[in-house]
Amino acid sequence: RFVTFEGGEGVGKSTQLRRLAAWLKQLGHEVVTTREPGGSPRAETLRNVLLSGAAKRFGPVAETVLIASARADHVDHVIRPAIERGAIVLCDRFTDSTRAYQGALGGVSAELLRTLEQVAAPGVAPDLTIMLDAPAERGLARARRRSGEGAVADRFEAEDAAFHERLRDAFVAIARAEPERCILVDAEGAEEDVAERVWRAAREKLGL
Ligand code: C5P
Repeated sequence: RFVTFEGGEGVGKSTQLRRLAAWLKQLGHEVVTTREPGGSPRAETLRNVLLSGAAKRFGPVAETVLIASARADHVDHVIRPAIERGAIVLCDRFTDSTRAYQGALGGVSAELLRTLEQVAAPGVAPDLTIMLDAPAERGLARARRRSGEGAVADRFEAEDAAFHERLRDAFVAIARAEPERCILVDAEGAEEDVAERVWRAAREKLGL
């Protein structure tokens, strides 16, 4: 089974992913946690290129193709083998981030995005997507704090509040368009409460 975590900057995806992984492991499941862009050694190399200052020179299409290259390697070497041996795969960002950042905000066509999804991840699609939703201002503040700790990519800091509002809207629109796959989770409030909401959603959707 394949679960993705999506949402804007600083909504707590990584934290919630770790918490769900711990719960699933306690139940005795094999859990593989991974992330995009990246997730395999070669894809992480491409992530470094994408998130470095040099990436600002790429246009949205070039960026999308690079992400698709990273995804092809990640899917082939990490995600697909894990799904096939029965593990539960939890991935921090996947195709919805590409649809939101490069599609809704970057202007890359839905047609190209779909084609690249099929090329990079044939037959591999999330069974469940946890869409973490919080006001852009909150995410911004949290990401800025993390940035002080050196954790956030420098490209993030170039974006303004309007960018983050549009990003939030894009993720919400994706979740509303695919209610069978996506669960929109309110990411405001205490970390434990959000984790409870994620846990309930995952248990129900995955039949655990
Ligand atoms: O999820 P995480 O915060 O590690 O993502 C790192 C950065 O990668 C984000 O700040 C985001 O700006 C960028 N990103 C992107 N396009 C994607 C996925 C991530 O621009 N498709």
